Amino acid sequence: KDTLAKVDPELWKAIEAENQRQEDHIELIASENYVSKAVMEAQGSQLTNKYAEGYPGKRYYGGCEHVDVAEQIAIDRLKKLFGAEAANVQPNSGSQANQAVLMAFAKPGDTIMGMSLAEGGHLTHGMALNMSGKWFNVVSYGLNEKEEIDYDKMEALAREHKPKIIVAGASAYALRIDWERFAKIAKEVGAIFWVDMAHYAGLIAAGFYPNPVPFADVVTSTTHKTLRGPRGGVILMKAEHEKALNSAIFPGLQGGPLEHVIAAKAVAFKEAASPSFKNYQEQVINNARVMARVLGEERGLRIVSGRTESHVFLVDLRAKNITGKDAEAALGRAHITVNKNGIPNDPQKPFVTSGIRIGSPAMTTRGFTEIEAEQIAHLVADVLDAPNDDAVAATVREKVSALCKRFPVYGE
Ligand code: PLP
Repeated sequence: KDTLAKVDPELWKAIEAENQRQEDHIELIASENYVSKAVMEAQGSQLTNKYAEGYPGKRYYGGCEHVDVAEQIAIDRLKKLFGAEAANVQPNSGSQANQAVLMAFAKPGDTIMGMSLAEGGHLTHGMALNMSGKWFNVVSYGLNEKEEIDYDKMEALAREHKPKIIVAGASAYALRIDWERFAKIAKEVGAIFWVDMAHYAGLIAAGFYPNPVPFADVVTSTTHKTLRGPRGGVILMKAEHEKALNSAIFPGLQGGPLEHVIAAKAVAFKEAASPSFKNYQEQVINNARVMARVLGEERGLRIVSGRTESHVFLVDLRAKNITGKDAEAALGRAHITVNKNGIPNDPQKPFVTSGIRIGSPAMTTRGFTEIEAEQIAHLVADVLDAPNDDAVAATVREKVSALCKRFPVYGE
């Protein structure tokens, strides 16, 4: 820390400011978290210096004996955590893990089926401007009138279009997903069944959300969301697909793996197998539920799908006559960080939206429980009731500051 400050004070200032922001603001972005110091230590290690193209025991570079050990530990822990037959810990991001699935099981022009971005899916599941949407013929499913996944429609679409790949998983969906139902229809139409569990991985590891691994041909994930590891991706798969997916990652899409990040992933997987991680994830769900209840039942907002069964939920802001974009900015002024998010059939453009997405993983890591979750939901609603009122912003900021001081993220 001292070295960086001396070598590059200009950059250090930005890092220090970000560190302080993380301490002083309440983080409600559903895809973010705070990693442990052990995870950061692994990621900041000399493993960053090492080239290791290939896989443990089969590398294209010398001197890999120690990174082989580290990568094998990561693979073994990941397999055990989710009960998978095989695992790849090299994807540099969730998006690259997803690209590997497309590369392994489909050719440009083939049909794939995923959840539409506008109704909760991810870019990499077939959005028009993403590689998945540009190179493949995409059939999208979405939500029914209850704002739950429309399984009947999804099945009808699968039978009609016979996609090569069916992907389940979402970036903005609060409810449990019926993996088994997807698996059945995939089998019926001869599709590869792929689950992207990025958002739910931590909950799944702790047993608070259904595990897709027994049902899917391949499961991808990020490691930095609920799972609370370093930024990156992983792939879990049936043994029969290991060769195809491993070669899609290397040499298909990536070169040298980030062995320092892989080491940090290994630490996170160890942490995720601990009893305290179970308690943490239970609290994550409880905190999300409390915030959704307060906003939905006490403060006059509509919760998309009516409730949450996970770490995340969407708030329909239309009753308060404020857009997602303005709500994000107003909450930011009060030191509460959220992201704007489209709601089903959103009348606003994607950069404006009528909703915000709220998630509990990061705030729970810093120690907030139901008591604070209730307070925070009221603070959010106070701001949304008076988004342009500087006095309200100042009052909320003060309360946020007091809460953050009581629950430091990393401390000194
Ligand atoms: N899959 C899902 C469901 C996601 O929500 C995300 C991230 O937002 C990703 C994949 C992509 O991960 P990354 O940002 O690491 O590329």
